[in-house]
Parts: sequence; C-alpha cells; structure tokens
Amino acid sequence: MNQKGILIVLSGPSGAGKGTICKALLESSDFWLSVSATTRSPRAGEIEGKNYYFLTKDKFEEKIKADDFLEYAEVYGNYYGTPKSSVLEALEAGKDVILEIDIQGALKVKETYPGGVFIFILPPSMEELKKRIIGRGSETPESLMTRFKAAYQEINYVSKYNYAVVNDQVSEAVKKIQAIIIAEKCRVDRIKDDILDSKEGLIHEQLYD
Ligand code: ADP
Ligand code: 5GP
Repeated sequence: MNQKGILIVLSGPSGAGKGTICKALLESSDFWLSVSATTRSPRAGEIEGKNYYFLTKDKFEEKIKADDFLEYAEVYGNYYGTPKSSVLEALEAGKDVILEIDIQGALKVKETYPGGVFIFILPPSMEELKKRIIGRGSETPESLMTRFKAAYQEINYVSKYNYAVVNDQVSEAVKKIQAIIIAEKCRVDRIKDDILDSKEGLIHEQLYD
C-alpha cells in the first residue's frame, strides 16, 4: 500500500488548549505538525521555526504574492499562514499532518482538501476558557478581550467541522483525537483503492491468491 498521509485540521477559540493538545499528540503519536508563519510578535519562550516562523508584514505579503501559502488569514489583527510546499511534501511521503489553524483558514483548506479531517476543540465552559487565556499570561488586557469576545462567534462554526472534542482533561482529549484518526484510517472511501482495486491490494491478496 502506498497511502498518502491524512490532513488533520485543529481549530477552536484561543485558550481552548489546541497548542497543549498538539504537543501531547506529538509526544504520543507519529504526527507531523506544520509550523505556520505569522506577523505577531513571539511570546516568551517561543522559538523561531519551532512555534512559528516570525515574519515582518512585508515579508509575509511577499510570500502571499509568491503563492507560498496553502492558506492564510488575518486573525486577531495579525497574519497567519500555512507554508504550502512542506505540507504537501509531508502528505505525499505518507505522513499524517496536523494544521493548528483558525476557522477562516480551516474553511479554505476544506474547499481544497475535502478529504481532510476537521476537528474543533471546545473548552468545557466559557468561564474556564477565560481562566485559561489569563493563566497563560500571554495577552494584554486588550488582546485578551479581543480573543475572548471572538470565542463566542467562533464556537458557532463547530457545525462546519467533522468532529468536536471538549478539552476538559488533556489526556482524554488526546485519546479522542487518536481514536478519530484511527477510525478515519479505516474508512472505506479512503482506502478502497488500496484494498479493492490494486492487484497488490490486501483484499485482492487475501481473497484470490
Ligand atoms: P490555544 O493553543 O488553544 O490557544 P493553549 O494550548 O495555549 O491554547 O492553552 C491555553 C492555556 O490553558 C495554557 O496555559 C494551557 O496550559 C492551559 N490548558 C490547556 N488545556 C488545559 C486543560 N485541559 N486543563 C487545564 N488547563 C489547560
Ligand atoms: P496564537 O497567536 O494564539 O498562536 O494563534 C492565534 C490563532 O491563529 C489561533 O486560532 C491559531 O489556530 C491561528 N493560527 C495559527 N497558525 C495559523 C495559520 O497558519 N493559518 C491560520 N489561518 N490560522 C493560524
């Protein structure tokens, strides 16, 4: 079998725990996390090329013109974008790729990659969401309010996604996402070419050889 990797898109309001979940997923499973480009300033501890590629607005706009992004969007006043070539290469190499991107970006990706798996991360409550953004200590009072207010709008888009996972306990949310991916890999519409049509396919071998 020469299956391409699965494109997994995670979105959800700021503070829901997407970054935390991605980190735990990478520690426990063999995923490839796309590193986005952004024009926002690095937070304390964030590393160039690991958390983001931090670009100036001019550089980012150059890359838009050069068609270097799979998708990009303006989120909370800054540009964010997914580098195209590295993601396509990873999928082609059979890696399961995670994009942790906002809703606008996810909807664009859904148009071009309907075979992607779109997962929305929800907080257990709005109160807990606010606590988490404050607890992260990354925002000014203004940007905290921008993100928190946006969360009420963002949550309405959950219906555009294939799955919703409430991040109450990180370990439980991670288990659910792993289960989703395992199930997706068994979907007949995803693997039918391999198991039914190919001469070397599994079903062919088992049934006829
Ligand atoms: P996002 O990437 O969605 O903006 P983060 O992963 O940065 O969110 O999480 C926001 C804050 O909430 C961080 O301080 C993180 O440690 C904390 N956090 C994440 N998941 C949980 C959880 N399940 N329970 C309690 N705190 C959490
Ligand atoms: P943060 O500033 O908290 O790291 O991210 C803010 C928002 O931007 C989050 O919703 C995050 O998912 C989103 N984001 C991060 N990278 C990308 C990207 O490449 N494209 C898009 N569209 N959104 C992104």
